[in-house]
Amino acid sequence: MKFETTKCIRCGCDMLMADTVCPTCGKVQTGGRQTGARTMLAVALAAAVLITFNWLKSPAPQASPPTAHPSANLPSG
Ligand SMILES: [Zn+2]
Repeated sequence: MKFETTKCIRCGCDMLMADTVCPTCGKVQTGGRQTGARTMLAVALAAAVLITFNWLKSPAPQASPPTAHPSANLPSG
């Protein structure tokens, strides 16, 4: 897996785009990047799709088998 990298706005060293603080000089990266919000949106979308898919796949629990009669099901010997 390859991480997206960017340059620090102060020292110019390579750093991860997910990082908001440069690991080398400690400069907070304030440059109008919206990587965090976009990543969060993508993750939320993927989770929503997965949950919807599972919900559609699961059968509706309204068709009960006709052999269910709990009131008259006592075994008598
Ligand atoms: Zn830096």
